[in-house]
Amino acid sequence: MAVEIKNVGVIGSGQMGNGIAHVAALAGYNVMLNDISSDRLKSAMATINGNLSRQVSRKVITEAAHKAALERIVARESLDELADCDLVIETAVEKEDVKRKIFHDLCAILKPEAIIGSNTSSISITRLAASTDRPERFIGIHFMNPVPVMELVELVRGIATEDATFDIVRDFVTSLGKQVAVSEDFPAFIVNRILLPMINEAIYTLYEGVGNVEAIDAAMKLGAHHPMGPLELADFIGLDTCLSIMQVLHDGLSDSKYRPCPLLVKYVEAGWLGRKTQRGFYDYRGETPVPTR
Ligand code: NAD
Repeated sequence: MAVEIKNVGVIGSGQMGNGIAHVAALAGYNVMLNDISSDRLKSAMATINGNLSRQVSRKVITEAAHKAALERIVARESLDELADCDLVIETAVEKEDVKRKIFHDLCAILKPEAIIGSNTSSISITRLAASTDRPERFIGIHFMNPVPVMELVELVRGIATEDATFDIVRDFVTSLGKQVAVSEDFPAFIVNRILLPMINEAIYTLYEGVGNVEAIDAAMKLGAHHPMGPLELADFIGLDTCLSIMQVLHDGLSDSKYRPCPLLVKYVEAGWLGRKTQRGFYDYRGETPVPTR
């Protein structure tokens, strides 16, 4: 029972959800954006509008495309509105019990041939799939942040994911103008498995006094051609998110090489979580970011 993707549901309208709705609507899909919070839905629509406007001003898209994309997105608080969707991408908070409840309620209203994808960064796709009535039509669709800008999507098959599901979703992702990297269902997939230990090592380099914040970021920008230094990048991702991904790697792979740096733990304990709290490895409260160590 192959399904043609026309109507796309997006559950969770946060940072990732609004980006996924944005790129899907721009690619011509009808998008049903869902959230339990009407405030989050309102601010998601405002963010999408703002990001589309920026693309118009940079001549990436036309004003007509902006208008048409916005008209294709319907924001709703009730999950029942997703009944006609061919593909639903869950991107609600990273809590397994919340996701399980969503899948339980969603499966009850969704047509049997519809596909469910999860944007989870760390929860096993096979385990999430097993909580649904359709593990063969369940897949990990892991977008990168910010979604409208980043080129990559990791596709993660659960043990039961059928080839037809994979093929349909790969074509969908390609139609969004994104490239696919296929990852097996292991903790943190590919990008975060490589990126976060590098960031964690940069924090160890700081912790052990090998270099200060400025030296470490300059070293990797100028010496390895990274567009952002690892500590600047950690602040951008959020230090709480960095810590939780290291914990997932440490617990999931049971290897001490993934132990989170105690200095990262300390920053999180202080509530210095990076850009979002205005302080992390840099202090963002003034005109220009100032290193905090
Ligand atoms: P966020 O906190 O910005 O947004 C989550 C949204 O989910 C909120 O608007 C919240 O109201 C909503 N929500 C909570 N419970 C819900 C429910 N029962 N039904 C509908 N909506 C519900 O989080 P985010 O950064 O957008 O992350 C969402 C998902 O994407 C997580 O699984 C995360 O692991 C994954 N992810 C995040 C990033 C990133 O860089 N932020 C990157 C890739 C994947």
